[in-house]
Amino acid sequence: MSKHPKKPFLESDEEFALRLQMFHDSEWFSRAHPPSTKSTPVVAREKSLPVPMIRYIQVQTHSRCNADCIFCPYAESWHAEHPGRMSDTLWQKTLHDLAPFAQGINQGKFLPYLMQEPLLDPSIFDKIEEIYTHFPNTCLELSTNGTVLTTKVVDQLIKIFSAPHHKHQLWISHHGINQDTFEHIMKLDYQHALHNLIELLKKAKGRLRIRLRGFGTRRDGKHVFFTSQQYRNYWQQILEHHGIAEDNIQIDAYTYHDRAATLTRSDRGANQLNMSIMRKIGPQNRFYCPRIDLWIHIMWDGQIRLCCMDYHGEVPLPNLHDMSLLEYFASPAYQQIYEMVTGKQNSDAHFICKRCSSPGG
Ligand code: SF4
Repeated sequence: MSKHPKKPFLESDEEFALRLQMFHDSEWFSRAHPPSTKSTPVVAREKSLPVPMIRYIQVQTHSRCNADCIFCPYAESWHAEHPGRMSDTLWQKTLHDLAPFAQGINQGKFLPYLMQEPLLDPSIFDKIEEIYTHFPNTCLELSTNGTVLTTKVVDQLIKIFSAPHHKHQLWISHHGINQDTFEHIMKLDYQHALHNLIELLKKAKGRLRIRLRGFGTRRDGKHVFFTSQQYRNYWQQILEHHGIAEDNIQIDAYTYHDRAATLTRSDRGANQLNMSIMRKIGPQNRFYCPRIDLWIHIMWDGQIRLCCMDYHGEVPLPNLHDMSLLEYFASPAYQQIYEMVTGKQNSDAHFICKRCSSPGG
């Protein structure tokens, strides 16, 4: 088993710097990174290292989601059809395989979820503890729809995230501004979800960094469930009514997209939300997305996924049962997908990145 790839996969520094600069100038990067991190010398690090300096990790510890959001392909996904839970052995191997990337992960984020609901995993808090043990300076991000925020779960969240030095972000998916919009979009019980969230917000008392996320308008602005202003007003009224201070609470009214046009079902008109081909990618139309060399995505069965858009597993990549992550980054499979994403080599007319309206995730 080789420890390091034989040669760097990257092209010239000039080409990489250009792609990186284009991405730094993008809307996604501005939203995801405070201005002070824009000058992070990623090119210099890439130059001295033979493997990508990944910083963001997504691991699907189990496959289930209890919501059915209209703009999410979960209901028709590969993992909904092939449910399962990551074995303890594979979880330990994943942590072991990530060890060489500790420097980057400690500057980035670890997300113990991928295209599902993390709080349905009874072992999630043990896993979070292990993540902090292995990567003490990483930021732990959880994204939940809030329906399983029982008193016990809320207490566990507060205990683990309010511990000194445990950097974290708790993202709440709450897509609606009343019972009708919420239940139409998410197919969850509104009263139950809202009650749980209010209990969380009251109990947290500003000790957790919470982002309330509502996706009400399509990325291209052509379809609206609710506006950004309506979403902010909605939460401000709730917080005021319950006497909850906004300390550490961010109201994030954002746009939804079609997960690279992977919505195929007709339920509630989901397939009409697709936006189709977004761009050309190829030797004449170079492209860059950080999901290819700053992120890694691992499914419950060990399969590596290109990114959080690939709900159907349409991009075939190796499995961690067959190789280490270091070996993956040295493999022809990684070289090929890197070149397809960045346009160094041609790809099929319907290649997923050509359909993606949210590069970066
Ligand atoms: S599908 Fe989108 S997010 Fe995923 S790698 Fe391609 S451009 Fe990036």
